[in-house]
Amino acid sequence: MASHQRVIRLRAAWVVGYRNGDHCLVADGEVVWQGERILFVGRDYSGQVDEEIDAGNALAGPGFIDLDALGDLDTTVLAFDNQPGWRTGRIVAADWTRRCLYSREALDFNKRYAYSQLLLNGITTALPITSILYREWAETFDEYLYAADVAESLGIRAWLGPAFMSGHHVVEADGSLGMRFDEARGLAGLAQAVAFVERLEQRGVSRLNGMLAPDRIEGCTPGLLAALSEAVKALGCPTRLHCCQGELEVAEVARRYQRRSSIQVLHDYQLLNRQMILPHGQYLGGPDASPASIADDIRLLSASQATVVACPLVSGRHAKYLESFAALRQASVNLALGTDTFPPDMLTNLHIGTLLSRVVAKKIDAASAADYYRMATLGGAAALGRDDLGRLAPGAQADITLFSLDEPALGQIFDPITTLVINGNGRDLRGVIVAGEKVVWDRQLVKMKLDIAALHRQAQQQFTGLMATYPERSYQHPPLDQLFRPAFPHDV
Ligand SMILES: [Zn+2]
Repeated sequence: MASHQRVIRLRAAWVVGYRNGDHCLVADGEVVWQGERILFVGRDYSGQVDEEIDAGNALAGPGFIDLDALGDLDTTVLAFDNQPGWRTGRIVAADWTRRCLYSREALDFNKRYAYSQLLLNGITTALPITSILYREWAETFDEYLYAADVAESLGIRAWLGPAFMSGHHVVEADGSLGMRFDEARGLAGLAQAVAFVERLEQRGVSRLNGMLAPDRIEGCTPGLLAALSEAVKALGCPTRLHCCQGELEVAEVARRYQRRSSIQVLHDYQLLNRQMILPHGQYLGGPDASPASIADDIRLLSASQATVVACPLVSGRHAKYLESFAALRQASVNLALGTDTFPPDMLTNLHIGTLLSRVVAKKIDAASAADYYRMATLGGAAALGRDDLGRLAPGAQADITLFSLDEPALGQIFDPITTLVINGNGRDLRGVIVAGEKVVWDRQLVKMKLDIAALHRQAQQQFTGLMATYPERSYQHPPLDQLFRPAFPHDV
């Protein structure tokens, strides 16, 4: 007989329950779980309980699902007011001989640091992404074995896979933008990624899953797209591909694929399916976008059950947003969220996503806090084909976040979700439970017991070190102080 797993009951001023296919709110509620599964959500559980947790004036809700989770030190802060990004290292100079600018130890540290930050913001399920601007080419199998170790030891639920590509943008000597391709390298990267997904499956850790993560659509040659399509059919695992992200991509895809849109190209290669997860969805309709061509792309997305991932914070910083938010919703396209940048703060993304949706639609009711809360929970779960994630309901995984409702900075509360979305942020997080296990408690990483202050110090050191390599990669190799100007001149 299996040994008895402890039954734990958590009480909180508010619990996000689940009823008739949607979230509901339970005042003075309880969540009861045994092992990794929830037994009960509501009030007055009558069964035997082994351990009681009183969370007090807090909101207990489902963990957030981040489909484009920052898994790296974020360098986009450098370009925020140092544009255009291609001049300041966001695209590599054609005369740079690619090499890895991080040591393997530094890469490993970045994962520990970044995955910790995700948990500290209430993200219990992550599909991490890192930048490959600092790489000899893309990511490797070995490095992701380590990523799996980190995820397992921190206790985060993750879908992992090394990024691969068969091409990347460069800045040519004359300042124009071009691309460099190496299809064999892309195919080798895919083979490694497939082997990694299989290895993770053998590992048999329920919190760790494999995904295929080609870097971005314009970095895939036709041969790589065809091979990827076969791999997805064989593995049936989620695939994440940056798509409809920028004008450069739209133009490049149109040039190489008879003026097709990125969405049409995915459809042509049978890659538009319910496994496909597509950050950013900002440029639908192809090179000559019209209301009709945008509607055609939306129809393809809807019919395929693919997921579009909004990343509000990073999009807003780049003066863009998912312009078709309302039309995508209208067409029942699955919408989910990604943090993609620092801070990986899902509450902030819910707030900014709501604001940007209203601004692009010029309508105050274009999006609500609840719409974005659903995207960060139920939308992510649908993308992963997991109806036991993103909700607190009997039988679901006990992935629970606790946000304090007691902070003076939160202001006044009439509804805990509205207040947390518009007045709160990730710093209001108090606890995280994943698969029934405490991984963050009182804002500490209690499972892996990492020292957050020490992580912070080392991250700053590595960031400063990486910054120093920017002249090497950047167009015309200007010195560092010309690449990145501070907000105001330093008074010396
Ligand atoms: Zn992204």
